[in-house]
Amino acid sequence: EAKHRGRNKYVIFNTDVKEKISKEYTIKTMLQKAIENEEFELFYQPKLDRNKRVVGCEALIRWIKDGKVVPPGEFIPVAEKSGLIYEIGKWVIEESAKRVQEWESDEILKEISLAFNVSVVQMRREGFLNDVRNIISKIKPNVSNLEIEITESVFIENKQRALHLLELLKRMGFKINLDDFGTGYSSISVLKEFKIDILKIDKSFVDEVLSKEGRVYVKTIIDMSKNLNLLTVAEGVEYQEQFEVLKELGVDYFQGYLFAKPLKKEEFEEFVKKLNTSKF
Ligand code: C2E
Ligand code: MG
Ligand code: MG
Ligand code: MG
Repeated sequence: EAKHRGRNKYVIFNTDVKEKISKEYTIKTMLQKAIENEEFELFYQPKLDRNKRVVGCEALIRWIKDGKVVPPGEFIPVAEKSGLIYEIGKWVIEESAKRVQEWESDEILKEISLAFNVSVVQMRREGFLNDVRNIISKIKPNVSNLEIEITESVFIENKQRALHLLELLKRMGFKINLDDFGTGYSSISVLKEFKIDILKIDKSFVDEVLSKEGRVYVKTIIDMSKNLNLLTVAEGVEYQEQFEVLKELGVDYFQGYLFAKPLKKEEFEEFVKKLNTSKF
């Protein structure tokens, strides 16, 4: 009996692991093809100021697979595990640089900043900075319109190296956004030491801001940011009431479905022109 059950258990466990590995393997093979066939696309989510003018955007990657849009949560982790993130990540930076360079010849779009996400795995790689340099010298965008979004996990492994890397990126003109703030391990000293420019308040705080306790958390983050001279962005703003309270608490910029979902390039450009040429 026991032996029988034991064996069954073992078989089930084994199958799960096999399935997981083969699913990852399948995604990896498909991702490899996706790189070759250029199946990736950047979407752009508007970032607005307190007057609802568009000041920038966040570039978010999508995989267009057989006409269907695959969100990054479904393939970035596999890309990180398999090392394919280097190629994909380089493509993201290059595409972002091209966009900013393109927008420079447009009276309205040239004011728009673009933030792109980089993975910790990608940054850890020896050649990362060189790749960035090569892309910038090839495309020649106005780097001060480019923002790099990193997460707090960048600081965990090798603090000295991360410090050095960010310093060099800043010297090249990039602004540094700290993404998903509040979900990781950041201390105030990290914020100061690493010369972050913009702090992105994680959606989980925005979700709670209408409650008394949630409001206190956000207020604490904003007060700290102001003292450290950091700009703040609220992520995932979905309701007008949240927008009102966040404004009252002093948040500088806003992103969320209340204003717009991540948009295709042309849709985003239209959105900017509509909002930024209208009267208040
Ligand atoms: P993130 O950088 O924190 O991006 C914010 C995510 O929240 C995006 O999901 C965005 O579509 C979503 N979002 C924005 N506003 C709202 C809202 O009002 N409500 C809700 N429910 N969601 C909202 P997305 O595009 O699926 O990206 C998920 C994560 O994947 C990103 O989180 C980022 O960590 C990663 N990612 C996206 N693009 C890239 C990329 O090009 N490279 C790397 N390495 N990671 C990326
Ligand atoms: Mg981000
Ligand atoms: Mg975020
Ligand atoms: Mg996030």
